[in-house]
Amino acid sequence: MADAPHLMLYNTLTREKAAFQPIDAQNVRLYVCGPTVYDFAHIGNARPVIVFDVLFRLLRHLYGADHVTYVRNITDVDDKINARALRDYPSLPLNDAIRAVTEKTEKQFRADAAALGSLSPTVEPRATENIAEMIAITEALIAKGHAYVAAGEVLFDTTSMADYGALSRRNLEDQQAGARIAVDAHKRSAGDFVLWKLSSEDEPGWESPWGRGRPGWHIECSAMSHRYLGETFDIHGGGLDLIFPHHENEIAQSRCAHGTAAMARVWMHNGFLQIEGRKMSKSDGNFVTIHELLETETFGGRRWPGAVLRLAMLMTHYRQPIDFSLKRLEEAQALARRWADAKIKLVEAGAATPFVLDPGSPLLDDLNLSPVFAGMSQMAAEGLKGDGEAARSFLGLLDLLGFETIESLSQAASDLGLSLGDEEKWASVTARIAERRDHLAARNFAEADRIRDALLSEGIQLKDGKDPVTGERVTTWEIKR
Ligand code: AMP
Ligand code: ZN
Repeated sequence: MADAPHLMLYNTLTREKAAFQPIDAQNVRLYVCGPTVYDFAHIGNARPVIVFDVLFRLLRHLYGADHVTYVRNITDVDDKINARALRDYPSLPLNDAIRAVTEKTEKQFRADAAALGSLSPTVEPRATENIAEMIAITEALIAKGHAYVAAGEVLFDTTSMADYGALSRRNLEDQQAGARIAVDAHKRSAGDFVLWKLSSEDEPGWESPWGRGRPGWHIECSAMSHRYLGETFDIHGGGLDLIFPHHENEIAQSRCAHGTAAMARVWMHNGFLQIEGRKMSKSDGNFVTIHELLETETFGGRRWPGAVLRLAMLMTHYRQPIDFSLKRLEEAQALARRWADAKIKLVEAGAATPFVLDPGSPLLDDLNLSPVFAGMSQMAAEGLKGDGEAARSFLGLLDLLGFETIESLSQAASDLGLSLGDEEKWASVTARIAERRDHLAARNFAEADRIRDALLSEGIQLKDGKDPVTGERVTTWEIKR
């Protein structure tokens, strides 16, 4: 596989795009920070799941499916989990209550990820199953003079590392932690962070050289990446918000414990999914869960297939912010329908054969998918006109990008009462809805009502509502049977 085409990746560490060279092409190693399992994941959390799944699939295509190891951890020890366990299972012993919360949430997360067309990572280690590794790294850091014990905590000494802060490029004055000096008087310097802390009787804990306690968050990823990927691996990923402090601190721990020059060679970060310009987040309350979007009718009055959310997410380059809206989902839905329709026809025509990615594909340019999608629509059209090569590329790209079951959208479409082949009718309905919207905007209600009634006489009922995100007027429709 020495002559795999060049994949260019943007590296947060260098702030540059460079050709990706695996340390070992026989085992390309990728680590992505996974969920803290205390509640349903929201669609912002879905972004790294989808983005790094595309990268995983691309690496498997380039280096061979058996030559890529993808690790995504499960954070199942966290104070938010404890709080949730106490709230939801007050009558159970704490450990059982915690297990009930984490098992249920982890199962839901896997179901969500699968519904979004994401492959399972090679390994999904749990923090609670790697406590011994965390203790070992903490011991090594103390032995090497990078950590100290104070007030029931083991803390990393940030001044002990000459180039601490290289990833986020913050200087010490920038560090927000400065504001908390008074609270954290036991710290030698404000940026020092917890590796291990003692637990009270009613908190979960593990025996350690420093007493019964639990790990800090950052140490988990240093321990699990080391166990499964080694001291230095190829790519580490996550959302932008993880650059500081999480990834900075992972780097500090891993490099200082192992005496290495790098934890991962390439650091990749996805941009935020936003609602009205603000990052979607649990704490701000401006979130929609994956489960709600896919399985309930809370968003826009209907369920959305996983493939549509996947496409809606990938329509924007992974490093750019996304402003989420119903309009975006509808756009993705329209494109997905066209592709599903084309796939059914092309597969019937027997076009599926092995596929090799074009070395000039924009996918290889830091996962630049917009031109890939435009190209796919063109290939589908040419394929339908009889161009076998175009059909093959279109079908191959659908699989490579995780849309291998996109034809299942035909089910979603027929639920709406329209078979996939019925594109003319679909187009006519959507055009008349747009026309009616213009009449409404011009306060031309008689015309608007005429269109609504005409559609109803064809069995199509319109429902007016508001985009739950943007507040814009939107109209959905369903077939009356
Ligand atoms: P958390 O559970 O907050 O640690 O987040 C899990 C993953 O989702 C991390 O990689 C975060 O960076 C990512 N993430 C959280 N919120 C968003 C968002 N609004 N947009 C994109 N990624 C996000
Ligand atoms: Zn991490």
